[in-house]
Formats: sequence, C-alpha cells, structure tokens
Amino acid sequence: MNPLGIHALVWEGGWSRAECERAVRSTREAGYDVIEIPALDPAAIDVTHTKAVLADHGIRGVCSLGLDLDADISSPDPDVVVRGEAKLADALAVVTGIGGDYLGGAVYSALAKYDRPLDPRGRENMLAGLRRLARSAADHGVTVGLEPVNRYESNAINTVADALAVIEEVGEPNVVVHLDVYHANIEERDFVSPVVAAGDRLGYVHVGESHRGYLGTGTIDFPAVFGALAAAGYAGPVTFESFSRAVVSPDLSDRLAVWRDLWSDGMDLAVHARRFVADGLATAQARASGPPETMVVPAGDGRNRQLPDNPLG
Ligand code: MN
Repeated sequence: MNPLGIHALVWEGGWSRAECERAVRSTREAGYDVIEIPALDPAAIDVTHTKAVLADHGIRGVCSLGLDLDADISSPDPDVVVRGEAKLADALAVVTGIGGDYLGGAVYSALAKYDRPLDPRGRENMLAGLRRLARSAADHGVTVGLEPVNRYESNAINTVADALAVIEEVGEPNVVVHLDVYHANIEERDFVSPVVAAGDRLGYVHVGESHRGYLGTGTIDFPAVFGALAAAGYAGPVTFESFSRAVVSPDLSDRLAVWRDLWSDGMDLAVHARRFVADGLATAQARASGPPETMVVPAGDGRNRQLPDNPLG
C-alpha cells in the first residue's frame, strides 16, 4: 500500500506552533501517514518544534513550494535567480530540519501567471539552479520533485514530458516527477500516458479533484488514475490536495486562485478522501496483480443477425 499523505491546507492556513500541532494531530486522526507542509515562507516554520510534533504522532513530514516572480530560478535576471536559489536553500533547510526526505512542487519556477513563454536564458538558469539544488539535497538524503503545473501557474513545466526533459538535462539521480492529476486534467491527453511516460521516474503523486474539492465530485477519471498507478507498480506517496476559502494561507490561497468555499469541514473532507484513495488504489492493485479478467463474450456478435423485415416494406 502506498503511503497516503494530506496537504496541510486541509487543516490550517499557517504554521504557528498551535497550527502545527492541530494539523499533525488531525493528519494522524484521519488515518494518513504523511503531511505535506507548504514552505513558501521557510522562516515561518519552527523546524525543531515541527520535528518533535511529527515524531510524537508518528507522521512523516514533506515540504512543497513554488517560487516567486522576484525570487525565481527560471528568470533571465541573475539577481532574481540568486533570490530564487536562496529560497530553495531555505526550503531545503526546513525539510532536513524536520527530518524529511522530500521537497517538491514548482521548485523550478514562480507559481504565477506568466505573461510570456519561458526565456531561453531563464531555462539555462533553471537547469543550473535545479542541478545545484539536487546536489545539495542529495547530501541530506532528500529527493527533489518537479511538479508539472498548469499553464496559468507556470510557463516552465506544464506536462510530465516537460518534467522528464528537464530531469534528463539536470542529470541528477535524486530528481523525480511529481504528478498532480488536477494539473494533468488540464494539460495532459489522459491520465494513463503521463504515468507510463514517467515510469520509474515517478516519485510523488498529488490527487485532487478538478475543482479542488471532494474527490469523486468532479470530472477527474479516478479509476483511470488509480489503474495507471497500479499497472505501473507505483509504490510512492499519494497525497491528497484540496483547497477551500474556509482555510486561508496568506501565501498560497490567492496564488492558487482559491476563491470559493468548496468545503468547510476539513476532517470530514480528509476522512472521505482517505477512504476514496485507499479503496481506489486497493481495487486497482488487486485488478493489476490478479489473473487476467475473463472476457465475457456475448452470444453472437450481432453482425450476422437477421435484420427484421423493414416494416415499411
Ligand atoms: Mn499539486
């Protein structure tokens, strides 16, 4: 069974000591193994306290973030790149400080609506910055995940194919694809081909509904998602992401265009999602590992059936 995770924004908008304690306790109570902590403001995270709270509850902590337009390793402006690399270094320090082994998200770009395509010099800066991040992450046993996000949130990596090309050019073994089905729903042809393309480079998965609310109430084809993950033998984390105006992060909610209340009770949402994902994965994995299903062949294929006489003559 894959480790199941949940994004902290289901519980709390910030990361004060009290918010950290409530979020980690709720993560355990809802039956999850992993909490994903947004590290957009690394300085706001008390790593020593967070590490202790995670240990108390037996929960694994991972971090995600997107960069900013004025601190962006995919910029052609060297000063902006320097600030982007500093932000990534701070986020990596949070991951290692809480005892985590994973840093993912739009670590390659601002999480923003760009008004032009990725600049070629910016792309070179991005590759160099990711290479440095990956090497320093490797020193701490941390894996770096590149999460393709939709075109309204980055101009650099929108598809799994984009991510694989960047991983190839970065050339470091601890860089993986972080697939998010909410973004894939916008940018990919289907939910199977990106999983097949990523292969054993797939290292982390976000499940979220098309409107970012309750799983199963939107247009994502979850049987296809879970079927693809099972067929690929994917054993990594599957983390539930959902956002509502009911829980607001000053850093993240506006950037993700979370304008609506999709839900108000995070625990109800989380318990539902936990069951939805566990059941969906278990069903798909049983099907993938079981004997081939017997195809039910209907008696006669219809092609030779006598057509009734045309009643109109
Ligand atoms: Mn995501």
